[in-house]
Amino acid sequence: MQPPRHTPASLAGKVIDAHGHIGIHSGFYAAGGYPYCQSVEGLYYRQRAAGVDVNVVFPFGSHPSGAFPYELDNRRLLKEVYEFCPEYAERFLPFLCLDPGGQVPEQLAAARALIQAQAVYGIKINPVDCRSPIRRLGTGAGRAVLELAVEFDLPLVIHAVPQGVDEYSTAEDILDIAAAEPRVRFCLAHALLFHLDLLDQANRLANVWVDTAAIKIQMELTQQLIRNQTLRGRRLMDLDWHDPRAGIRQLAEAYPDLIIWGTDSPAYTFITRRQQGNDQWFDFRLKGSYEAEVDALMAQDTATIRRLANTNPLNWLFHERRR
Ligand SMILES: [Zn+2]
Repeated sequence: MQPPRHTPASLAGKVIDAHGHIGIHSGFYAAGGYPYCQSVEGLYYRQRAAGVDVNVVFPFGSHPSGAFPYELDNRRLLKEVYEFCPEYAERFLPFLCLDPGGQVPEQLAAARALIQAQAVYGIKINPVDCRSPIRRLGTGAGRAVLELAVEFDLPLVIHAVPQGVDEYSTAEDILDIAAAEPRVRFCLAHALLFHLDLLDQANRLANVWVDTAAIKIQMELTQQLIRNQTLRGRRLMDLDWHDPRAGIRQLAEAYPDLIIWGTDSPAYTFITRRQQGNDQWFDFRLKGSYEAEVDALMAQDTATIRRLANTNPLNWLFHERRR
């Protein structure tokens, strides 16, 4: 049983959570981190408890037993959504994870087969998780990932941080790539850590969106990065860093058609030691909840909720241009 492919019409009026993970992050598990997994069934019950209708979902990590990055994880995700839990399938919009930094032809051959067999709605890249500098997406073998997005008209979501926060996920590089490739729609995850120049630059590009994934702990992390000088000299939004509702409200007011709501479920909590660069590690000790992410959205007025959780995500998922 396969559900019909979703369209803007079939998603009209739905509350869409545009950023969620399904599967296992075996690296976090092995290192004693938390969380490390989520199932379709588990996320379905979170949705039901919170009043969310639909989730964009992609793998959590790349399992080491795969022959190339995300080999097992992409296959497993589609199997879980469409074969193991078909009764919930209409609530999920699966994306494939790709690593532009290695074994790209193998990854793309597998991705193409999956896309042709089942409904796939986009591509996720997490540069810090694959330890691949994102500029590889713009040149050399990595460019084939962009060509795949063009070929199947798939949007991208990319984990992004201001330059210097980690060595791989540099938002400045992603925005350069997006400016040079207007045929592809890009979503930069995690609110660009509220960096005003990057948000303004993203807002000027018609093929770029920014998500709020894990806003509660992104606000806490930003405070930490201010205190430890990582964001020294950067122009940030003026926020009450303890109030995710205000964070969402100010983002939505300043950038009404740029911002997309997402929870990062289950990574709205992030407790792990992660490699951020060649010999750069960071100890994350950040605790959030699905409720806090949903509350930050639902505290907004009706028109804002509709924009963040329906209109803007649908434009990114299905339309060619933001404006
Ligand atoms: Zn995420």
